[in-house]
Amino acid sequence: MRAVTFQAPGEIRIEEKPDPEVVAVDDAVVRVEASGICGSDLHIFHGRVPVEPGFTIGHEFVGTVLAAGPSVERVSAGDRVLGCFHTACATCATCLRSEYHRCENGRTFGHGANLGDLQGAQAEQLLVPHANLTLRRVPEGMSDEVALFAGDVMGTGYHAVEHAGMRAGDTIAVLGLGPVGLCAVQASLAGGAAKVFAIDSVEQRLEMARQFGATPVHLTEEDPKRAVRTATEGRGVDIVVDAVGDPAPLAMAISLARDAGTVSGIGAYAGRGEVPMGLAWLKGLTLRLGLANVIAHVDRVLGLLEAGKLDPAPLVTHHMALDEVADAYTLYDQREALKIVLTP
Ligand SMILES: [Zn+2]
Ligand SMILES: [Zn+2]
Repeated sequence: MRAVTFQAPGEIRIEEKPDPEVVAVDDAVVRVEASGICGSDLHIFHGRVPVEPGFTIGHEFVGTVLAAGPSVERVSAGDRVLGCFHTACATCATCLRSEYHRCENGRTFGHGANLGDLQGAQAEQLLVPHANLTLRRVPEGMSDEVALFAGDVMGTGYHAVEHAGMRAGDTIAVLGLGPVGLCAVQASLAGGAAKVFAIDSVEQRLEMARQFGATPVHLTEEDPKRAVRTATEGRGVDIVVDAVGDPAPLAMAISLARDAGTVSGIGAYAGRGEVPMGLAWLKGLTLRLGLANVIAHVDRVLGLLEAGKLDPAPLVTHHMALDEVADAYTLYDQREALKIVLTP
């Protein structure tokens, strides 16, 4: 089979690899019919996340089950399925608390030996461990490109507000309108947010958020703090989602939140940074951080996608063939695409 492999920073290549086979009793092998390129793939592409040369990358996928081990009960050969971006064991201490994103034995597709040594989904076929937990059937009538979002990007946008304890009627601000931020905007509105402020500096992304029903606020041409304060009688919003993952947006999130509000940091932070902890303390803020628990959310997210209350289709800006993957990464790296869907 053909597979997209990391070679060196800035260099990826299609390689021929043996077809995967079922090894464990709860493994499945999936013929991949669509896979996505994600922001975290760019970290690998640039060498910021170390991956062994020749490792197959990619972690978002939709396809058809070709084979399944005897313990796989939720799906069977011939089923059209989507995957979550990582696996979980269902039996460790964190899994027993439904915190699958911190599974002690968790493995992330396409992220090299450091994250579980699990080959990636930008390939013609994929080995899926713990298939009962990792895979779901695609609801009848749902397109590949919509289903692709359930196990990663939309699950992450959903988590950003769910993890913050959002309630119907809350006011929300989302900082950073990449795919995850835009999905957080949709999840907020689907969850009954009274008002959603969508903050970014890219005009097209602000316009997309406006079409979803949010109030767009330009990061630099407007004053986000003033805009939020004016619309909330000076209080600030109940929840701020930082979908960027840097100290500067986190500091802004702290300033936009109301007293006793919540800041939900879903963007990936790295290393150290300075944030106004005194202000966060004075305001009595709750800070919720970390990777999204997509396995815990995937059924609800699929339900909302099926009902049309979440619709990530407008985020898919490019469809490309697996063989065009080098061009696809260049395009994505230049921020000329929101979501690229690859088809083998
Ligand atoms: Zn992803
Ligand atoms: Zn576990």
